[in-house]
Amino acid sequence: MKIECPHCRGEIPSGDINIQTCIAKCARCSAVFGFAEQVPGSQAPYRKPQVDMPAKFSVTQDGSDLLLVYRWFSLGLFALLFFCVFWDGFLVFWYAMAFSKKAPLLMVLFPLGHLGVGVFLTYVTAAGFVNRTFVRAGTDRLSIRHLPLPWPGQREISRTEIEQLFCSEKIGRTRNGSSTASYQVEALLRGGKRVKLVSGLDKPEQALFIEQKIESYLGIADRPVAGEM
Ligand SMILES: [Zn+2]
Repeated sequence: MKIECPHCRGEIPSGDINIQTCIAKCARCSAVFGFAEQVPGSQAPYRKPQVDMPAKFSVTQDGSDLLLVYRWFSLGLFALLFFCVFWDGFLVFWYAMAFSKKAPLLMVLFPLGHLGVGVFLTYVTAAGFVNRTFVRAGTDRLSIRHLPLPWPGQREISRTEIEQLFCSEKIGRTRNGSSTASYQVEALLRGGKRVKLVSGLDKPEQALFIEQKIESYLGIADRPVAGEM
């Protein structure tokens, strides 16, 4: 069985194919896609298998809009919360000392970098606990919002601009050299521009689920994009 990347037409080595989930990834263009339609015996060209709704997702109909909500919460956040409590607690203790004893200016200035890190991490942790991503597909536009805590990555795209949606894999490296994979959904606009819609998903199924829901709602036919890369 030979699997071909629908985006760049590259051949996918067997190591990048997951038979259980029917999801493959392309090392050449980092696309992530379902390949059930390429399996001999299946019909309907370019029709992806419908991915089951992953945990943390909900899909509702809001008026004439399709609303897809993704909750950020994960158990890993508790480790981050634990760290924040210690980090911030130490800073509170430090500054309480510095201000009560009329300490030298250096004692106030020295931990400013630590204070910045503390504020940043605390914000990220709080957002992880309370935030959700709202993907709203209307008849004429697609919008992405992260609420309630402000977060970069809000999007508003006109339906007519969207040529295609696709999923890709992003490989990151941690400090100890091991690699982490996250998945994102991107839109390919008319004119060839790529816009990131949702990123930081930890499973390919989540990205494919978003892609399929929006594509079927907006009536975007999923077909290969020639010369995309
Ligand atoms: Zn490819």
